[in-house]
Amino acid sequence: MIIVLKPHASDQDVQMIADRVRSLRYQPRIIRGVEHTVVACIGDELNNHSLEALRNLPAVDNVIPIQHRYKLVSREYHPTDTVVQVGQTAIGGDTPCVIAGPCAIESAEQFRTAVGHLTRAGLHLVRAMPYKPRTSPYDFQGLREDGVRIMRDVKAEFGVSFVSEVLGPAHVETLADVTDMYQIGARNAQNYDLLETVAAVRKPVLLKRGMASTVEEWLTAAEYLLVNGCSQVVLCERGLRSFDRAVRNLLDVSAIALAKQASHLPVLADPSHAAGKRALVLPLACAALAAGADGLVIEAHPDPVNAFSDAAQQLDSATFDTVLAELAPWMALAAARKRQQAAST
Ligand code: PEP
Ligand code: MN
Repeated sequence: MIIVLKPHASDQDVQMIADRVRSLRYQPRIIRGVEHTVVACIGDELNNHSLEALRNLPAVDNVIPIQHRYKLVSREYHPTDTVVQVGQTAIGGDTPCVIAGPCAIESAEQFRTAVGHLTRAGLHLVRAMPYKPRTSPYDFQGLREDGVRIMRDVKAEFGVSFVSEVLGPAHVETLADVTDMYQIGARNAQNYDLLETVAAVRKPVLLKRGMASTVEEWLTAAEYLLVNGCSQVVLCERGLRSFDRAVRNLLDVSAIALAKQASHLPVLADPSHAAGKRALVLPLACAALAAGADGLVIEAHPDPVNAFSDAAQQLDSATFDTVLAELAPWMALAAARKRQQAAST
């Protein structure tokens, strides 16, 4: 880190700051410029205390980090792409994958119909959401344990793999025998207690980006999963809260490209929660693949108009099939580009 002092900083201020830096286990190097004095702090920013608190000292103008707060997820540390296998679905492999399913499990009939349709469409990894985080606590929060029972029956019937969101440590336990991948949703993206609990199970994790998280914060949360023992982490960009309510969230296509460059972990995109409107799902999915996404998470429901949640963005079965067909050339292009990149490295 570099600490930039204010122009009026005295020799006493400089000494006091150097002492504080030493007490936090960094070596200070004092550089006196024409206007500003700068204290370069040598030490491991990843494992040491942060020097951010020094920003509050009256003589300090700015504290600038040099190192990222993550290492295990970075491409410098692990140059080749990580592939996360969930049942029959490889995420981050040679071809982009599609994960789909309803926003929530609403009944045995609804979920059976949804999974039957998706397996006929060739999908093996399905969204199975018995617990729902909602914008308002008074909205439908899922069938909870009844939904978990439905999952068990549907899994036995169709032999599919599931990705399920957990909202707290109790859900991690309840879902352990039936889900194949835990989802940490946008609202829990920085819930480090929950990340620790999930990581300890050693199952694949789909980590969504918080709706106001920076790319650095998203990757640092992924790092925390790796540090706590989970090596099968998949990132998912799902759009940011923005000023413009024309779309539900602003799909950050640059973050997809950036995360692919900065990290070896697979990166998916969720155009459904970004768009909030079914007509935008296809164009956003194409944009995400063009930016380098390893696959897509799409909400599909047998009867979206009557869905208990996210009715406007879920695709009915016929539209889902059309979207999948329209995506095929984009998927093929993404796969060809991946092969080309792999050959040139
Ligand atoms: C979801 O995938 O069901 C969901 C709630 O998404 P997000 O956390 O991105 O809002
Ligand atoms: Mn939803």
